[in-house]
Amino acid sequence: RWVYMNGEYRRKAEATVSVFDHGFLYGDGVFEGIRVYEGNVFRLREHLERLYDSAKSILLNIPHSIDELEEAVVEAVRKNGLYNAYIRLVVSRGKGELCLDPAKCADPQMIIIVDQVKMFPQKLYDQGLKIITVPTRRNIPDALNPKIKSLNYLNNILVKIEANQAGVSEALMLNSDGYVAEGSGDNIFIAKGGILYTPPGYVGALDGITRRAILDLCDRLGYEVKEQPFTRHDVYIADECFLTGTAAEVIAVVEVDGRPIGNGQPGSISRHLRKEFRKLVTVDGVQ
Ligand code: PLP
Repeated sequence: RWVYMNGEYRRKAEATVSVFDHGFLYGDGVFEGIRVYEGNVFRLREHLERLYDSAKSILLNIPHSIDELEEAVVEAVRKNGLYNAYIRLVVSRGKGELCLDPAKCADPQMIIIVDQVKMFPQKLYDQGLKIITVPTRRNIPDALNPKIKSLNYLNNILVKIEANQAGVSEALMLNSDGYVAEGSGDNIFIAKGGILYTPPGYVGALDGITRRAILDLCDRLGYEVKEQPFTRHDVYIADECFLTGTAAEVIAVVEVDGRPIGNGQPGSISRHLRKEFRKLVTVDGVQ
């Protein structure tokens, strides 16, 4: 495996960053997780646009044009010869001093890792996830808006730890007003009476590229979707629930906090959208 680091390729074992990198010291940076399906990078442009938006919001200047970075990503995929892969794109503030001030960081560190995909086991796609809600809250949008995909992922890590401790593979975060925000690394949809609901961005969730793809699919397939806030109660009494994300794709949820969702099996809309999404990723996103 080859890792792209600021224009050079290094072997995985030699791909190391400085302990003075502010990404390491302070979580100062942004990132993206992107999939390669059958040699095609899925919605690369959208991921890059989100990366540049995240960087702009934290005043991090990416020293390449979006076209250059697009080329670099495609080249990194080619160089690694993986047909199906997961790409991790990281831009950190770079090497600096032991103080918060990013003015001391001369050059951002750009990293492109191309690796195997780690998805949920197939069994969980067939049977659906049993999940919980956890005490960790999503901050509602402020300066560090959850729409920024920053290297500060402690909220999400705590959610994952709380899920692990409860023996489940994913969990939901509420925002500080008690509305359902998202999973540790996925967006959420529920269905009730044939209508789909997903929290709007202002509740405190990432503007997921998979979520967008599902909204497009719903539009094309004639499913009505309402972007509106909902509570845990609405999830408990939903007919269906599913999560969306680059790594997870579309995965049904069949139990939340011990309450079976619908009849406790992956619902028909979730299954349909998962099937359509799988079709989409094999023909869409060619770069
Ligand atoms: N929410 C969070 C916090 C995430 O980290 C991710 C993953 O990137 C998502 C949602 C899903 O977004 P996407 O579909 O762009 O992967």
